[in-house]
Amino acid sequence: MNKGASMTSVKEHIEKARSGEVDLKAFMEEVMERTRAIQEKYTPFITINDNPAPPASKGMLYGLPISVKDCLCTKGLRTTAGSKILNNYIPPFDATAVSRSLSEGAFLIGKTAMDEFGFGTFSTNCAYSIPKNPADPERSCGGSSGGAGCVSAAADFPHVAIAESTGGSITAPAAFTGTVGITPTYGRVSRWGLIDYANSLDKIGVMGKEVYDVALVLSAISGEDPLDSTSHGGGREDFTKSLEGGIAGMKIGVPKEYFGEGVDERISALVWKRIKELEGEGAAYEEISLPLTEYSIPSYYLIAMSEASTNLSKYCGLRYGLHGELSGNFEEYFSKVRSEGFGDEAKRRVVLGTYARMAGFREAYYLKALKVRSKIINEFRGAFKRFDVIATPSMPVLPPKFSEIGGLTPIQGYMMDILTVAPNLAGMPMISLPAGRIGGLPAGIHFIADQMGEDSLFRVAAFSEGLEWK
Ligand code: GLN
Repeated sequence: MNKGASMTSVKEHIEKARSGEVDLKAFMEEVMERTRAIQEKYTPFITINDNPAPPASKGMLYGLPISVKDCLCTKGLRTTAGSKILNNYIPPFDATAVSRSLSEGAFLIGKTAMDEFGFGTFSTNCAYSIPKNPADPERSCGGSSGGAGCVSAAADFPHVAIAESTGGSITAPAAFTGTVGITPTYGRVSRWGLIDYANSLDKIGVMGKEVYDVALVLSAISGEDPLDSTSHGGGREDFTKSLEGGIAGMKIGVPKEYFGEGVDERISALVWKRIKELEGEGAAYEEISLPLTEYSIPSYYLIAMSEASTNLSKYCGLRYGLHGELSGNFEEYFSKVRSEGFGDEAKRRVVLGTYARMAGFREAYYLKALKVRSKIINEFRGAFKRFDVIATPSMPVLPPKFSEIGGLTPIQGYMMDILTVAPNLAGMPMISLPAGRIGGLPAGIHFIADQMGEDSLFRVAAFSEGLEWK
């Protein structure tokens, strides 16, 4: 890469690297210099990889710089999940998604900032650094994969981010930073080596500038893994093949609940405009109703917090991360380390999640939430009998200012997930891509498909991107 050279696309860069046209050693040095410049300006990283290993093979990601959300373990490189309690944790192994990328020839530039364990929508609940939005540094990049969105938007070099979503953590930052984010079907990508937030909801996915970029990297990291019994999908699929599929005859469902109260009217109008353009290009749309949407927030937060509270019990000051001076009995010691190591949101979730699972309350909260989840899954399944994809706005608001986020109550913050938690609860794949800008700020359009329906998502997303909505 020549200094000041214009951005090369991921596709072109890999082709050139593979044909020997790129001096990879010089390229890596230049990329690390630019990575540090981005960190200085927008602080999207928790840890920068000072010594990235040169490509392990001339594979499908040969010479590609990748960033990895800090909840995925990286061998020998500090991994904190955004929490002070993992301040000094250096994993002895790579997550499967990381090892698969590296074995295909990618190199790791750093670990991106996130809300502690994924608890948040704005990446402001991070113990280390809070990413600033390249569109306006006084605004949030979204969360919890805010660092991944920030680097994807700011990178002035070919780059792809590996991120994770539990309830919308890929869609929110993609929408707020004007980038593309794919959250695959639950189980499509192995969760081995992921620091869990909520095991039945966590999905590793990909963010980047273009649809091709995320399709390529998803192809490299997906597929069954003997180390994760919930992973499926057989062997590797090549999602880049879907990109040329077009949208002729595609049926799009447009649920009215996703354009209602609480959704910025300017975003609704923009997304409608895009849907009508797709109709003009050969797709058909129909307005539908998904009446269970209003129950998705309580159901999601009960399940997510219940699972999170059990997952966090392993951080007791003895096994991983933060240790204290041994004093008092175990409970006193354990409480002291956890009081120091967890942020406010993590503490809130431990208390609420434990409460929801307690004998006497379990039936009323946790088990009821699971029943609602089954109904939501069936509601989506019903819709996907008639439609290839569902289209909605990605987020109900434009990227908020940090000063505005500070004034939100926890419940107001949770309500920002109203458009994303239902498909996440249902384990459906989804992709967010730029729908355009409003007053200079990015807004996203969201396509959701049936489980294992990534092909439809890539078809409609690649086609939409060709319409140059940015
Ligand atoms: N904002 C949601 C939460 O706090 C989703 C975050 C995520 O997907 N990790 O749970």
